[in-house]
Amino acid sequence: MGSAKKPDRKPIYIYVIIVAVVMLLLNAVIIPAFKSRNISEVDYSTFLEMVSEKQISAAEIQTDYIYFADSSEPARYYKTADVGDPDLVQELKNSGAKFTKVINKTSPLETLIFGWVLPLVVFYLIGMYISRKLISRMGDSFGGGNPMLSFGKSNAKVYVPSTTSIKFHDVAGEEEAKQLLQELVYYLHEPQKYADIGAECPKGALLVGPPGTGKTLLAKAVAGEANVPFFSIAGSEFVEMFVGMGASKVRDLFKEAEKNAPCIVFIDEIDTIGKKRDGGAISTNDEREQTLNQLLTEMDGFDGSKGVIILAATNRPDVLDPALLRPGRFDRRIPVELPDLQGRIDILKVHAKKVKLADNVNFEPIAKTAAGASGAELANIVNEAALRAVREGRRFVTQEDLQESIEVVIAGYQKKTRVLSEKEKLVVAYHEIGHALVAAKQSNSAPVQKITIIPRTSGALGYTLQVDEGDKYLLSKEEILEKIATFTGGRCAEELIFHSITTGASNDIEQATKLARAMVTRYGMDPEFGMIALETQTNMYLGGDSSLACAPETARKIDDIVVALVKQQHDKAYQILKDNEIKLHELAKYLYEHETITGDEFMQILDNPVTQI
Ligand code: ADP
Ligand code: MG
Ligand code: ZN
Repeated sequence: MGSAKKPDRKPIYIYVIIVAVVMLLLNAVIIPAFKSRNISEVDYSTFLEMVSEKQISAAEIQTDYIYFADSSEPARYYKTADVGDPDLVQELKNSGAKFTKVINKTSPLETLIFGWVLPLVVFYLIGMYISRKLISRMGDSFGGGNPMLSFGKSNAKVYVPSTTSIKFHDVAGEEEAKQLLQELVYYLHEPQKYADIGAECPKGALLVGPPGTGKTLLAKAVAGEANVPFFSIAGSEFVEMFVGMGASKVRDLFKEAEKNAPCIVFIDEIDTIGKKRDGGAISTNDEREQTLNQLLTEMDGFDGSKGVIILAATNRPDVLDPALLRPGRFDRRIPVELPDLQGRIDILKVHAKKVKLADNVNFEPIAKTAAGASGAELANIVNEAALRAVREGRRFVTQEDLQESIEVVIAGYQKKTRVLSEKEKLVVAYHEIGHALVAAKQSNSAPVQKITIIPRTSGALGYTLQVDEGDKYLLSKEEILEKIATFTGGRCAEELIFHSITTGASNDIEQATKLARAMVTRYGMDPEFGMIALETQTNMYLGGDSSLACAPETARKIDDIVVALVKQQHDKAYQILKDNEIKLHELAKYLYEHETITGDEFMQILDNPVTQI
């Protein structure tokens, strides 16, 4: 331990306090209690009996009790209530008992050894052991110093340049994010150049986006490109058992980073420590708050020209404390979005490099079908395809493997064991054709690509896969209405054909309602309310929770409008199916027999002239 080092490790004090308390308890309560447990109390007559039989070797008379030891080897100790017998002393003398101290026979030296020295040694060894473990968890890069003083070392993982071989070209798509990060790479290469001109590079950048889009991967790629050490720690790792530990870890992390500059510090899932501090007087999580404060202080404190860049990632930017986003801290926000069509193709290609492919594999249809999939899901699709190829005894991955894997990853494994009854299968067939037919008969709806009634483990009994041509970012009001009609199409077919309804439409109902509600509350598509936001959306990267921001009467009105909207589309869908009832029968029968039909087959049957009647 260097003399200049400030003694700033709080947890060591906590440990010392715990040890002191335990030792005091040991000496004041536990040891005496333990000793007195060996003294059994007997009644006076037993005592007299033992006296007359000369069984007593030693006695000690105290105010209320007589303590005595019998003559057995080793001696047993007793006590009895003193009844104030005047002849007692003489009788004891006659019986040959010695008058000595019976209780508290331990010498001061023994007390010192058992009460203090031994426990201290034990605690020291425990302390050594724990801190050794902490150090070994940290990796061997920085141990050293007195192990007892190493509590609260940050256990950030360090990737030295040679081990981080991830480069920007390993991250497909995300061109915008890469471009923004490129500047940081230039800076890390030549911090002096920036310092000379007086430019200050951003200290921190925050990668923001939904899960699995490659935020962690991008951070690693920055380190790989810049060829500098990379300290990586997850936000949750700061929150530890002991209060003060997190703050001390932050301090330590920054100290190490400054020593290793230029380098990158990466805090993954920063929302675990960076949540907004609540203004209330009573704080529920003091530890987290202390850690956050320490992080803010460190970010302000360190010298930006040294070449330390702090990257952080989160999928919940809305919950972050505004102080974190202030200039000088994470002032640069880098959006990492779900990949678009070209991005998906590129990601598939990157991951397909790791597997053996058939010559004729075309990624475009795969990427098209997997609209909305994240990078992580696409990586999973390629892997699932490889697994499937092995299962089927092939040496390479085919187009079909990939196609099938999309459904495995997106809709859950095909469930071969779950068998629908014939009647159920028929209902599901009509239901799915209902969706598809309503979609196909509305001009603006995307063509159907695949319809299946093979159940999935995800719980869906069948589904209709619709694929948009290219990606759609804007939906017109008409398109949304048609989408709602398509969702209701399944239930409509059940009503029309079986005159009864089933539970199978629950997901459709949910989706239709969501869309209809969003039309009114978020998209301003209701003529009565116009462009008024009636709902605020939080947590937009994780599914999106929304909360109403309007008066109760308005909320009731919204409900009425939503009900009317869905009802209207339901009636429209019903009419479409009624007008095309013959085709509905024909298609449903075909699906029932084949279980899976492609979009082409569907369109072919639909375009065939009606033969019957
Ligand atoms: P996040 O941190 O955003 O949740 P990760 O960076 O951990 O996501 O991504 C998980 C995995 O998904 C990566 O290891 C990689 O295999 C794959 N992946 C995600 N996005 C991409 C991408 N743009 N290019 C290539 N692979 C990607
Ligand atoms: Mg991550
Ligand atoms: Zn349905």
